[in-house]
Amino acid sequence: MLLQSQREQVVEYGKKLLSCGLTEGTFGNVSVFDRQSGWMAISPSGMDYDQTRPEDVVVTDLDGNVVEGCRKPSSELDLHRLFYQRRDDVNAVVHTHSTFATVLSCLRWPIEPIHYLVAYSGRQVPCIPYYPFGSRELAEAAWQAMQRAYNACLLGNHGLLAVGPTLSYAFDTAQQLEFLAKVYYYTRTAGGGVPLTSAEVEAVLGKFRDYRSK
Ligand SMILES: [Zn+2]
Repeated sequence: MLLQSQREQVVEYGKKLLSCGLTEGTFGNVSVFDRQSGWMAISPSGMDYDQTRPEDVVVTDLDGNVVEGCRKPSSELDLHRLFYQRRDDVNAVVHTHSTFATVLSCLRWPIEPIHYLVAYSGRQVPCIPYYPFGSRELAEAAWQAMQRAYNACLLGNHGLLAVGPTLSYAFDTAQQLEFLAKVYYYTRTAGGGVPLTSAEVEAVLGKFRDYRSK
């Protein structure tokens, strides 16, 4: 079986999406890119995470062609492959419908630096307008908003996208940003809070770069 360890990771982290409360039902999806072969392992479309086995995970190339797998790849295939094509520091993508990130995406509130964990994304978490799920427009808009500056973005009236060098890092980002979205929602509805200064944000970004390079 091609990309066996990557497929096992997709199964493991799909289950974690549910157990950590980052998504409901079969929504959300994860993928891992193998830079050596140029293929990625991605969640199958519309399958319960608890029932997904490594052989159900789909291996595709970056043009979206299925290389191996008996299932259909996630409908958000474009959202994953664009980042592998265009960023050499991204080897994993996590897409969730976690509650507070989704609430902010419906309010169209980008997350400002109200708490230092914003550094998981960058200087903020941008928010894009609504585009139909599974569409090329959605993937392109997320790319335009993030490019190399951010590791996450709110998808308007939909959910959250997080990318990272490994699946554990991208998952951690999605989890920390759900906490941040909750804090931002409560802080803003309570009157606004005190945002970090740009010098304070830059200092945290420097620490995160050191942490990631270890
Ligand atoms: Zn979705």
